[in-house]
Amino acid sequence: MNILFVAAELAPHAKVGGLADVMAALPQALVEAGHGVSLVVPLHRGLKRSGEFRRTEREVEVLRGMRARIWEGERGGVALFGLERDEYFDREQLYGEGGVDYADSLERFSFLARGAVELARYLEPTPEVIQVNDWHVGLVPAYVKALGLPMKTVCTVHNLGYQGEFGAEDFAKMELPEGVFRPEGLEFYGKVNLLKGAILMADAVTTVSPSYSREIQEKERGHGLHEVLREQRGKLTGILNGIDMVGWNPSTDGALKKGFGVKSMTGRVECRTALEREMGLEAANGRPIFGMVTRMAWEKGVDLVWAGVEGLVKQGGRLVVLGAGDPVLEEEGRRLAERYPKKVAVRVGYDEGLARRIFGGADFFLMPSRSEPCGLTQMYAMRYGAIPVVGEVGGLRDTVREWDGKKRVGTGVRFVPTPEGLAGGLDRALAIWNEPAMMNEVRRNGMTEDWSWGAAVPAYEKVYRSLINPKGETRCQN
Ligand code: ADP
Repeated sequence: MNILFVAAELAPHAKVGGLADVMAALPQALVEAGHGVSLVVPLHRGLKRSGEFRRTEREVEVLRGMRARIWEGERGGVALFGLERDEYFDREQLYGEGGVDYADSLERFSFLARGAVELARYLEPTPEVIQVNDWHVGLVPAYVKALGLPMKTVCTVHNLGYQGEFGAEDFAKMELPEGVFRPEGLEFYGKVNLLKGAILMADAVTTVSPSYSREIQEKERGHGLHEVLREQRGKLTGILNGIDMVGWNPSTDGALKKGFGVKSMTGRVECRTALEREMGLEAANGRPIFGMVTRMAWEKGVDLVWAGVEGLVKQGGRLVVLGAGDPVLEEEGRRLAERYPKKVAVRVGYDEGLARRIFGGADFFLMPSRSEPCGLTQMYAMRYGAIPVVGEVGGLRDTVREWDGKKRVGTGVRFVPTPEGLAGGLDRALAIWNEPAMMNEVRRNGMTEDWSWGAAVPAYEKVYRSLINPKGETRCQN
């Protein structure tokens, strides 16, 4: 099959979160399974400077009388296309600065969606399926339909919490037929809602874990779209993300002080000591290090950790946090680090090397998410030997199994993401810590799990096939 991915992020040079990692891995996994795969992204500053894309003479007419220059590249058999329009994409950040989205988000992302569709018309062979990822490219199904193109569209929801809502007065900027601004299209309670439009207009909808696909149909976690999703559940499938097992391998990771693997863990002891030093923690072999690598956002439960720091420190735990996002959460983190020097270290910013050293040096990985579509960091943590202590939601349910000391199975600790739940989760983590043999067993269980894309690829193939050849295949449903 020929599949075209469209997204606003691509690791490592244009990354805010897990979406970037998935775009760097899933298309490649589909190539390995024998498919023809392309990926269109905006030519963000980081991508332009990466050297991975080269300028071509090709341009496409996009929107509002503007054209985009096409840049091309190739990675692992995936054909990469970058849409160049510097006034939109040659910026410091991908989405906004200082916690505020860029004011022209709708102009930028309608340009990306329409540009990708224009490019798709001229690709050879013509893609049979366009997979659109998150709200930024949510207009793709609308443009495909408005232009009467034959491609099928799959809308993949990586995070329902971000929907791309704009005022009705902005509708004209998208250059779509009037009829699209209706409840059957992208109108939602009088506003433009790009993700809702994509969910309705795409031929199939996927999300990044089975648990999340069920949760988002409920009011509590549906971010206002639960009824829409329930109505569309016949075309909704939850497919668990994998990780790039080659790029994330503790035995070859150059960011670590020393490599290690499940059969030779001495390198990990060095990584732990190096992390203590790098983060300015006191050296203490007998006291666990809890690590976090996170967007600083309410949904990630960062505030729960800040509220629980005192209890954690009193019980002998130490904490290292790397994250950026909400300035209020960042500031509170800095304050706590000052209050508990040598026990709590907080780095505000984005640093992939440090993220890897936290996965490879911390004893536990804390992720008290209130909502988690899939989550990749808990998988990286397990692969690198940090035991996950996670909120019992979404993809965290599907990837972390609670340790059962009697049956001796499980990979971590799960708790209800509330202050009391977190306190209970930390108690259970400390109980594991206090029994070194158990600690090793839980750690080994996590390190030997297979997080490759092997299981996801056939599930995506099934969705694509059901669209291309609907009679030969039944739709997958939850
Ligand atoms: P989300 O996409 O919701 O942010 P995921 O767990 O799916 O969460 O993916 C987050 C990705 O971003 C991971 O690759 C993680 O290592 C990375 N990441 C998040 N915050 C930082 C940071 N401050 N520095 C470096 N990497 C980060």
